[in-house]
Amino acid sequence: MDYSTYLRKYPDLNGYFGPYGGGQEFLPEQLRPIFEEIDQAYRTICQSARFISELRRIRREFQGRPTPVYHCERLSQKLGACQIYLKREDLNHTGAHKLNHCMGEGLLAKYLGKKKIIAETGAGQHGVALATAAAYFGLECDIYMGEIDIAKQAPNVTRMKMLGANVIPATHGQRTLKEAVDAAFMAYLEDYKNCIYCIGSAVGPHPFPMMVRDFQYVVGEEARAQFLEMTGHLPEAIAACVGGGSNSIGMFTPFLNDPVDIYGVEPLGRGSKPGEHAATMTYGTDGVLHGFRSKVLQKEDGSVDDVYSIASGLDYPGVGPEHAFLRDQGRINYVTASDLEAVDAFFKLSRYEGIIPALESSHALAYAMRYAKEHKVGSILVNLSGRGDKDVDYVAEHYGYGDDFKFED
Ligand SMILES: *Cc1c(COP(=O)(O)O)cnc(C)c1O
Repeated sequence: MDYSTYLRKYPDLNGYFGPYGGGQEFLPEQLRPIFEEIDQAYRTICQSARFISELRRIRREFQGRPTPVYHCERLSQKLGACQIYLKREDLNHTGAHKLNHCMGEGLLAKYLGKKKIIAETGAGQHGVALATAAAYFGLECDIYMGEIDIAKQAPNVTRMKMLGANVIPATHGQRTLKEAVDAAFMAYLEDYKNCIYCIGSAVGPHPFPMMVRDFQYVVGEEARAQFLEMTGHLPEAIAACVGGGSNSIGMFTPFLNDPVDIYGVEPLGRGSKPGEHAATMTYGTDGVLHGFRSKVLQKEDGSVDDVYSIASGLDYPGVGPEHAFLRDQGRINYVTASDLEAVDAFFKLSRYEGIIPALESSHALAYAMRYAKEHKVGSILVNLSGRGDKDVDYVAEHYGYGDDFKFED
């Protein structure tokens, strides 16, 4: 396939990437015109000079963009001759890439004249990023969160409240992410005139997979130009971790038309048995989840499988529809890294480079380290999607400080 016109062609007007995506037909009747309206408004607004220049200014002055590309010289040397580079999304304001699409969604809400933004959150990362955007734009913010998650994620709950968001507990069923999604959708149905639902990844009904990709595109666009300027050429390979698929699709799309190998890295957790991992592209089958068709981790009867990963941002049983499409095209490779490999990468980046990565991002780095050992030449550019401050207590409690973790030289 020729990727020079890819962004103009995909998704199509119905929101499809080949057979994947869409959503209109998977939505409750009342919501169809609402999503249609968001789609139309987005397609107009995103072309306007005012929107573009305001978003640029926000990225520069509020988020601290562009984030740098960094050459891991010590880590690379330990592994051989292949060079590892990082795109430092951990240095984006709030410490991860999620703010890129939350600021875009917040700005869109402002242009649409909405008063409130609502969303669900699992571990609280999306909730914190969205609460940040709401505070910036002076919008109300309702975050739905399972009661169990609220108890587990106290620091993020505190951050959301400090930023002025209402954290609303989902108290039915398992009281975790799925119930939070249900509760947020119900609330949206009741008040869609005044609010906009802000999805946390490149998933959900059209136009969200497209909008989130477009807002995250800046990651790969900057990284490509920065890498070219630093080295005079493109990397042989790039990698990013895949949960719902937002940081990865943003990193990958600007490279689609280049002679660069692309690797999406999924969490293998404790192993390949159902319930032990969240490697949707690797083990999933075609299905519909949360208003879109893609790969889904599900049983033969179509019920969704339990998922697990040490990185709570990656344990989602679906994946953005564009990923399923680009794999079918043979353009992107999907590989896995286990909990233990991620923890190994977490310690190594901390000790060799002075950068503590998020456990999510550690999966991408773990694959890059494997790639570097196997390839021996060239270079691989990894999207370091977030910083690991949120993970240090958990890692210290379960794995120590890395003192007796295996550091083979
Ligand atoms: C949420 C999160 C992810 C996973 O989400 P994607 O939509 O797949 O990018 C990855 N890294 C960090 C740091 C996160 O917070």
